[in-house]
Amino acid sequence: MIIKKAEFITSAARAADFINSDKPIIAIAGKSNVGKSSFINALANRSKLAKTSNTPGRTRLVNYFDFGDFILADLPGYGFAEVSKAEKDKWSRLMEIFFAETKIAHVLSLVDLRHNPTKDDLQMINYLYTYTLPFTLIATKADKLGKSKIKPQASEIASKLKVGVNDIIAVSNETKYGFEKVFDRLDKILTLYKEVSDFENEYEEE
Ligand code: GDP
Repeated sequence: MIIKKAEFITSAARAADFINSDKPIIAIAGKSNVGKSSFINALANRSKLAKTSNTPGRTRLVNYFDFGDFILADLPGYGFAEVSKAEKDKWSRLMEIFFAETKIAHVLSLVDLRHNPTKDDLQMINYLYTYTLPFTLIATKADKLGKSKIKPQASEIASKLKVGVNDIIAVSNETKYGFEKVFDRLDKILTLYKEVSDFENEYEEE
């Protein structure tokens, strides 16, 4: 896959602002600071498309980007220690509406390769299973581990989150390690999405 364009479309702070599109929508989930913005920038090969920062932001926005062949929906980060229960509930409600109202092609769920999945990561994955949303785990910050540790650590996370080893891709947003696999996965997701959409259209016409 070659990314031909990557443009910010809009931010949605409330359910009424969520968008749908004829293009497949790929959502990006993950706890704050996992490297979501850096991952989006690395995908786009742009340094400042999505904002990155060392201090986890408090924004509760879904940011949409047009990547040409697909729309990327950057979901608000979760797992913030200092966030109140009310804020967390607000986040959960917003996400529930998002997943219910958006036709999702796939979710890329980001986790930190260096650490065991957090309770919130586990909750997110359970959520994706409950709503039968297809997803791939993207384990970030692979550059911070020795090369020999990457595979075993990815397998460990995969088994903790109950996914097969083919459904986790270790990446570095800094060195671009693993991005060939990410692009291959995106190709497969888009091909499958098109086949299913064509089938559904044909079925509807009959
Ligand atoms: P977000 O809150 O999930 O959007 O996370 P950011 O993309 O802002 O990244 C949080 C911090 O982790 C920043 O300091 C990034 O430079 C750093 N970071 C993100 N991805 C990687 C990575 O793959 N490798 C390394 N070494 N640092 C990363």
